[in-house]
Amino acid sequence: MKRFWKKTVSMRAVLILMLFLIGFLPMAVQGRILLTSLRQSQIDSRTLEIQNQALILSNRMTQAGYLGGEVTDTILDSQMDVLADVFNGRIVIVDETYRIIRDTFNLAEGKYHISSEVIRCFRGETSSRYNSDKHYLTETFPIYAAGSTGEIDGVMVVTASTEYILNLTDMVGEKVTMFEVMALIVIIAVVLLAAGLYLKPVYVFRQRLKKIASGDAEEIHVDDYRETKEMSAAVSQAFTKLREVDNSRQEFVSNVSHELKTPITSIRVLADSLMSMEDAPVELYREFMNDISDEIDRESKIIDDLLTLVKMDKSANQVMNISQVNVGSLLELVLKRMRPIAKKRNVELTLETIREVTAEVDEVKLSQALNNLVENAVKYNREDGWVRVTLDADHKFFTVRVADSGIGIPEEFQTRIFERFYRVDKARSRETGGTGLGLAITKNVVQMHHGTIQVQSVEGEGTVFTVQIPLTYIS
Ligand code: ADP
Repeated sequence: MKRFWKKTVSMRAVLILMLFLIGFLPMAVQGRILLTSLRQSQIDSRTLEIQNQALILSNRMTQAGYLGGEVTDTILDSQMDVLADVFNGRIVIVDETYRIIRDTFNLAEGKYHISSEVIRCFRGETSSRYNSDKHYLTETFPIYAAGSTGEIDGVMVVTASTEYILNLTDMVGEKVTMFEVMALIVIIAVVLLAAGLYLKPVYVFRQRLKKIASGDAEEIHVDDYRETKEMSAAVSQAFTKLREVDNSRQEFVSNVSHELKTPITSIRVLADSLMSMEDAPVELYREFMNDISDEIDRESKIIDDLLTLVKMDKSANQVMNISQVNVGSLLELVLKRMRPIAKKRNVELTLETIREVTAEVDEVKLSQALNNLVENAVKYNREDGWVRVTLDADHKFFTVRVADSGIGIPEEFQTRIFERFYRVDKARSRETGGTGLGLAITKNVVQMHHGTIQVQSVEGEGTVFTVQIPLTYIS
């Protein structure tokens, strides 16, 4: 049911239904309630009227000793007839033997009238009953014996039709229904109009979204309501982001193509020049082949780095392989691997562990990230320089600092070095076998550990990279 609701119901339909219910339902209910209470009040006032008149008559009968003597009081008889006529009803007088001695319809005289109302009336209880099916009122009144003995000699039974009340309320009901139908038509028209006007900005919004989706528009501005304004802003923002992502992807692809092409171009040049030479000496062949092999190595390193980056981008959480790792030992291993290269350039490589650290990290990835930092520190160094790696921790994070005495990074490039394929000095980076992806990988790894990486550098003096990572991994 909920699914059905979610899938198919339109805002417009819900709004129309709501407005209709609010506008029409109370009116219809009120009309019905009014009619019912009108009918009831009419019946009540009719009952009261009959009671008054009949009471006066029964008192007169008591005073005149109507039942005591022979029934001859013609004035009372005619009063009874008039009253019965006025009420559009019938008056019956019953004596103490339950025999009808007077009937304004002149039909039942001499017959017996034994009903619970009459019996109760002889006991002194007057009664009033409304028959709602046949639409008539029945009331009973005692007629006392002459004198003041208080003895009940007879009962007056008054029956009055309420048909006319029914007719009246039916007439009013018809009018009410007519009014309601008219109101219904007006309400439907107004509701349709109001819903259309109210939802117009939403439809405009939908239209613009479709345009954006089909590429005909770039922005969306529906400022009629605060909500649509906020939605417009959010959607525009999302599309701007998408465009940025798209642009950066395109740039990345063109960078990748370019980077992959460079070694191939070199290989081609080397091969072509070898082929164009007749009787090239074997040494030259060997040298050129050596260069070609280097270029192939480069190409394969670029591809490896690219694959690493792509894998990390795909689904960060799945790729993480978290375990308790002794970061100090990990750094020792990284430095050990780097020592031969450092030695070649006579760069001093040291590790200082201020505090032993065991942290929840992905060992392979962190090792690669730190390796890139140390490798850069050695690569972009001077002869006889130094690289100092420091490990420290507080109760929440561990910090790895990689400081070097190298060439430094000019201030204006410091924010860009983490971009893929960005290199300050292309030629030097190529010389040292860099792909321009190292720091991008490092930054990714640090972010996957919810850590931060910062760089401080003075051109010509050296660089310090500071990595800070939480001791416990938050997935
Ligand atoms: P590469 O493969 O070229 O080293 P990286 O992404 O590792 O690529 O580094 C990007 C650029 O940042 C490098 O080309 C270099 O210009 C600069 N860089 C990185 N680390 C250092 C450093 N320790 N000292 C000076 N420059 C550095």
